[in-house]
Amino acid sequence: MFLCIVRKTKQILTIIGVALLGVMILYLVKRKPTETNPVADSQETADSIATHEQRDSQQVVQLDSKESVGQADSEEDYDGESSTPAQIKPSYQRGSYRSPLDIPLELSGSFAELRPNHFHAGMDIRTGGVEGKKVYAIADGYVSRIKVSTRGYGKALYVQHKNGTTSVYGHLKQFEGEILTAVRKKQYASEQFELEWYVPSGKLPVRKGQVIALSGNTGGSGGPHLHFEIRNSRGETVNPMLYGIEVKDKISPVFLGARLYQIDNAYADSQGVYPSLQLKNGNSFTVTPGRYAIGAAWVDYLTDKLNRLGINYATLSVNGKRIHTQKLETFTFDKSRYINTHIDYWRYKETGTRFVKFFKDDGNKLDFYKGNGIFKVKEGDTLKVEVLIMDVAGHTATYAVNILGSSAAKVKLQGGRRVQGKVVTHKKGGYLATTNGVLSIPPGAVYRNASFGITETPPSGRAVSPMIRVDHAHVPLHKSATMKVKIPTAFKSKANKLALMSYDPETRSSSYEGRKQSGDFIYETTKTPGIFYLALDTVPPVIKDQSAGRRLKFRVDDLLTNIDTYRCEIDGSWVLLEYEPKLSRLFGTIPESIKPGKHSLMLRVTDGVGNQQEFKKEIDL
Ligand SMILES: [Zn+2]
Repeated sequence: MFLCIVRKTKQILTIIGVALLGVMILYLVKRKPTETNPVADSQETADSIATHEQRDSQQVVQLDSKESVGQADSEEDYDGESSTPAQIKPSYQRGSYRSPLDIPLELSGSFAELRPNHFHAGMDIRTGGVEGKKVYAIADGYVSRIKVSTRGYGKALYVQHKNGTTSVYGHLKQFEGEILTAVRKKQYASEQFELEWYVPSGKLPVRKGQVIALSGNTGGSGGPHLHFEIRNSRGETVNPMLYGIEVKDKISPVFLGARLYQIDNAYADSQGVYPSLQLKNGNSFTVTPGRYAIGAAWVDYLTDKLNRLGINYATLSVNGKRIHTQKLETFTFDKSRYINTHIDYWRYKETGTRFVKFFKDDGNKLDFYKGNGIFKVKEGDTLKVEVLIMDVAGHTATYAVNILGSSAAKVKLQGGRRVQGKVVTHKKGGYLATTNGVLSIPPGAVYRNASFGITETPPSGRAVSPMIRVDHAHVPLHKSATMKVKIPTAFKSKANKLALMSYDPETRSSSYEGRKQSGDFIYETTKTPGIFYLALDTVPPVIKDQSAGRRLKFRVDDLLTNIDTYRCEIDGSWVLLEYEPKLSRLFGTIPESIKPGKHSLMLRVTDGVGNQQEFKKEIDL
C-alpha cells in the first residue's frame, strides 16, 4: 500500500497500559499514521456555516412537477430533462505539461479521493516501491515555495508556471541542483532542518523537464510515492488529469452499496445521523411517505486492484430526471474538512465505509453539487431511483432501485445513537464540564445541533488524573474544541511535566495531545473528542548511536510525549540532521568542511514537556 498518509499535527505515540472502564490491556500498538490535511498550506478561513434555521428552506423536488429540477443550476452539464442519467462531461483544460516522472503513471491515490478529514488534494503516483526516482518540472517556471517538514508533504516543492498554475511535488527524498544548494544554505542559516520558504520570484528558475528532486517517502507518507498536484491561479487544487497528465484507466468503478435516508431532522439532531435503510441493487423497497435522499459507496480502479481509488463524477436520477450531480474537479483547501458532512460520518466511524450523501446536508459549504437531491415519496408512488458514477476516463456504473410509498410500510429505518448529555448547537457551540474536565466547543463547530455527554472515571494505567470521557456518537467537529483537565493536587509541583493525552479505544493506543497551562488546568485544542487524561513525563528521550564514519545515524525515542527538538553540533557548530519520525531516526552526513582528524560531537534531544537528553562522543575522521 503506497497510500499517501499524512500525519496529524500531534504525533501519535505508543504507550503501555491504560486500563479503562475496568480492565483493558494496551498492546504496544503503533497507531497507523493518520492522515493530515495539508490544510496547513492554506489559511483556514472561518467559514460561516449555514445556520440551523436554513434547513427548513431546503427545497424538495416535486417529481410530478413539469419543471426541470434544480432551477438554480444553469450549467450545461446539468441535465435535468434527460430520460436517462446522461454522463457528465469532464472539464478538460488545456496545458502543455509533461509528466513529473519518466515512468508510466500508475496511481496509488486519486484526486479528491475520500480521506480522513480531507479530500486528497492531488494524485499519488507509484514509484515502484522505491525512493529516488527522478522528478521533473512539468513546465517552465520558478520555484515559489519550498517546505521541509517531518509531517504533511515532507519535503515539498512548489513550482509556479507562467500561465498562473502551480505544480506541487510532495514526500520528496531530496531536492536537486541549485534548489538543493539553496535549501542547505537556508537550513544552515536557520540551524533548523524544517523549513518553510516562500522563494522570491525568479530566484530559482526551472525549465520544463529539469530534474528538480528525487521521489521519496518523507512526511506523512506510508510508502514511497510522489504526491503531485496542479493548483490554478486561485489556489484551488485541480485534478491533474484534466490538465493532460495522462494515466491509464481500464477498469470501471464498482458500487459497494447504497442507502436510503429519511430526511428527519429531529431524529438527526438527537441521534447524530438521519435514519437510513440499506438498499440492494435492482430491488424494490416500500417506505412510508416522506422526504428521502440517497447515499452511496463505491471504489474505482485504474489498471489493477492494488489500490482503491475515488470517483469524481456522480449523479442521482429519480424517474429519469437528474436531481443531483457531483462534479469534483477542483476544491479549495479551506473547505476540505467539509468532507465530514459530505459523507455519512456516523456510518463511516461505525463500519469504515464512506457513503457519500447525494444531497447537501446542513452546514455543508462545498460547492461542487448541483441539484438538491432530496425527493418526496408519496402514497402510492413508485419511483425509479438511479445512481450513476463515472471515472475521468468515462467508465460508469449504475445502481438502481424502486422506492414505493405506502403508509402501511413496516420497514424501520435506523442509525445513530442517543447520547445522554447536553445539546451543543451549531450557532452557539457548547460547554461541558465534570469535576476535573471541561470541554468547550466553539460556535460553528458542529454542522447540526448534537448531544454531547461528559463523564469521568478514576485514573488508570499511566493516568495521574481521572479519565475524562466525551461521548458524542461520532459527531464530527469542523472547528477545534478545547479540552481542559484539572491538575491533581498531588502533581501541582510537577505541573510543567504533565502532558494531556488522548486514548483511542479502537486502536487501544494513546496520543500526546500537547500541554498548555492555564491556572489549575492543562489544556489543548482538539477536533477529535474522545477520552482524555493527564500523564506525568519525567523521562528524557533515549538516544542510540548507529553512526559510522561520516554517516550520522541515531535512533531517538520518547515514551510519552514524542521528540520535540534536537540539535547536533560538531566542535560546537550546528550540523544538519534530518528527522524521520516514522523510523524514530535522525540522520545526516558530516560535511566535507570538517577535515579529517579528531572532533567532538554532541546531540541534544528534548521531548514534548522539555525533558532533555544529551549524547557526546569524540569522533576520529
Ligand atoms: Zn498524496
